[in-house]
Amino acid sequence: MITRKKSSQQEIEETSDMEKQDLPLYLTIEYETFSFETTKLNIVDRMCTDCNKENLDKEVSSKKDIMSMIRQISKCCSLKDGYISIHTSMNEGVVREVLAASNKPINSEKISSSLRNRWALTPFPKNVNKIVIEKLAKANKWIATSSNEA
Ligand SMILES: [Zn+2]
Repeated sequence: MITRKKSSQQEIEETSDMEKQDLPLYLTIEYETFSFETTKLNIVDRMCTDCNKENLDKEVSSKKDIMSMIRQISKCCSLKDGYISIHTSMNEGVVREVLAASNKPINSEKISSSLRNRWALTPFPKNVNKIVIEKLAKANKWIATSSNEA
């Protein structure tokens, strides 16, 4: 019996159908991974110049302090030009989108469409589908993934 091998085009179509049915994962910052001081440095590093100056010497002693810094990124720094630029790596782009979502879980599909918009006009658009984003998120110790919003 001769069975014809599937064309690669067919296989690609079937794979993308499967991806569509897959529910997206929700991403948040994992507060337990690093000490408060290290987490603070991770955050101020991604702030705009003004917020960076303001927060660099601030004492952090609780999760609440950290959360308010993330809120500042969300309300200020993430809205400025250059927060995610043509030079930002995929991995860094995912981290910055999670921070920009403040302390609310953001799903991989929202990250995907946001990154696609931010990078739409670049000469070499990056592959930002949700599978890639979820893979990067799972490999990143600073990001927690969950299959639901809670
Ligand atoms: Zn700022």
